[in-house]
Amino acid sequence: MKNPLTEVDQTKLVDPFGRPIEYVRLSVTDKCNLRCFYCMPKGCKNFESSSNWLSFDEIERVMAVFGSLGVNRVRLTGGEPLVRKGLAQLSLRISKLPGINDLSLSTNATLLSQQAESLYAAGIRRINVSLDTLNQQQFCQITGGGKLKQVLTGLDKAQEVGFKPIKVNMVVMKDTCLDDYQQVLEYCMQNDFTLRFIETMPIGSPGRDGSKQYLSLQTVKKRLEKQYDLIPGIMTGGGPARYYRINGTSFEIGFITPISQHFCETCNRVRVSVDGTLYLCLGQDDKVELRPLLRAGISDDDLKKVIIDAIAKKPERHEFNKKPDKIVRFMSMTGG
Ligand code: SAM
Ligand code: SF4
Repeated sequence: MKNPLTEVDQTKLVDPFGRPIEYVRLSVTDKCNLRCFYCMPKGCKNFESSSNWLSFDEIERVMAVFGSLGVNRVRLTGGEPLVRKGLAQLSLRISKLPGINDLSLSTNATLLSQQAESLYAAGIRRINVSLDTLNQQQFCQITGGGKLKQVLTGLDKAQEVGFKPIKVNMVVMKDTCLDDYQQVLEYCMQNDFTLRFIETMPIGSPGRDGSKQYLSLQTVKKRLEKQYDLIPGIMTGGGPARYYRINGTSFEIGFITPISQHFCETCNRVRVSVDGTLYLCLGQDDKVELRPLLRAGISDDDLKKVIIDAIAKKPERHEFNKKPDKIVRFMSMTGG
């Protein structure tokens, strides 16, 4: 009997657990100009050689095939996507693809003030910016030498150019959170940014510092509930965040809790890394290497089949709790 998932004329991707896959996170580089300790180790030099990066033509082709299979959302990520030369040209090519109606960006914003206008003109509308603290010294420590001012200038520029929504992602850590989240929250409220708290995930080399900093967001939520009247929010989009609105305001706070309350049952995404590897789950090793196939001249129909077959093997869920040392690739390699 034929497996319906391997029919080439299928126009939607659905995994074995009935989850529609309509979102690709595309890592355009594994490099970064920061070294957030929970993401990329200090002195990390083990980057993919540029000959293995998917070219813009190759990326466009892969994304076009995903678009023909019902993927409608693409997020550019990395590493730091803004360090990849020509990102605006690539963005324009992706945003024009049939089926792709939502192109977004995750960035550390250090280079955003220079690129915000061209990225907006290229069709990006929604951006997520990492910002874990508003204390320059703390910021410098977390990011391995970053300058907070650049991020804040980048955020100002993004707002001026018209990106909406702008979401601030704050990885909450034992040593920084309690002092810092209130300041970040007030900053986001004043600027009409959505704030999302994220639990530190055990990704990267075993024994990395990030895991030691893990703090359940349930702790933060309980504290916030004492300060504010939190109403379950309505912001949707198939993402992993659970949103709450502060009563009497339009301000939304998201909680991304991969560890304390996993959200795998609604997972709608896969990841493509800079070297063209299709990762089926952030927390598992299942993958398919698309680059060798592209460079061997695979047809679009066969590429579709490969992607459909890969989705048919998407794992049910991550195992960050049961096997915290399992995933040894860094977040910046998979595309966070
Ligand atoms: N450089 C961009 C940035 O910082 O937003 C995009 C890539 S970064 C890998 C994407 C997101 O992953 C960021 O919000 C970052 O905070 C988050 N991240 C990285 N390592 C993480 C970890 N170990 N646990 C939780 N979140 C992590
Ligand atoms: Fe770079 Fe983003 Fe990772 Fe920080 S979280 S090191 S900014 S890729």
